[in-house]
Amino acid sequence: MASIELKNVFKAYGDLPPVIREVDLQIAQGEFCVFVGPSGCGKSTLLRMIAGLEDITAGELRIGGALMNEVPPAHRGVAMVFQTYALFPHMSVYENMAFGLGLAKVDKKVIDEKVRAAAKVLQLDHLLERKPKALSGGQRQRVAIGRAIVREPGVFLFDEPLSNLDAALRVQTRFEIAKLHRDFGRASTVYVTHDQVEAMTLADRILLLNTGEAVQREGSVAQCGSPLALYHRPRNLFVAGFIGSPK
Ligand code: ADP
Ligand code: MG
Repeated sequence: MASIELKNVFKAYGDLPPVIREVDLQIAQGEFCVFVGPSGCGKSTLLRMIAGLEDITAGELRIGGALMNEVPPAHRGVAMVFQTYALFPHMSVYENMAFGLGLAKVDKKVIDEKVRAAAKVLQLDHLLERKPKALSGGQRQRVAIGRAIVREPGVFLFDEPLSNLDAALRVQTRFEIAKLHRDFGRASTVYVTHDQVEAMTLADRILLLNTGEAVQREGSVAQCGSPLALYHRPRNLFVAGFIGSPK
């Protein structure tokens, strides 16, 4: 069964022409899918529609088979990690990681176990009492990832989680995210980036989004397939150019 299914999905902001057109996509349970494309092509918009942070103008979104178009974010079984971390500045690392579970009225003892387990995996166990401002960028991003993990979601959503990190930390965090996905065998991951290298190294499947005029002409999907398929069999010059393959 597809974990995430989009059927003929459109998004228009206000009365403007649609920025997302005709997206059909099925992401299997356990799959790592990367949305990639130039800045402004609609990657975040598409991810935010899956998260429930943007309305879907037309089309269907299903998660685990259930129609999600009208379901609020907290009830979708998804957890999102943002580029800017979006931590609560006045709360400690522990409180940031526990926050969502507290809202969901999970037992305090269970929350404590989950937070400590996630902190250990992410090497945050010695930082639990700190406030975000006393952390490095990489540590803050790990707290944001920890906050997602403790909720044990069926779907992880990442929006350019590495773009505020320096180069070395970017590579390390990329490996950590790949490992997390493997360790959470049942979860599906959708990962947004404008970076071809990140896309090629992380993805089971890549969705490359069209930009500009091509969106109106042929819809938002330039090509969808495995990294090797896009590399060896790019459908057109835009795909070839973006992925860096010969055509
Ligand atoms: P990406 O994440 O690929 O850089 P976005 O999804 O952020 O692209 O944006 C896609 C398009 O939608 C862009 O042209 C952007 O200007 C437009 N857009 C995004 N958010 C809004 C909004 N709230 N209102 C109007 N236009 C928006
Ligand atoms: Mg974006």
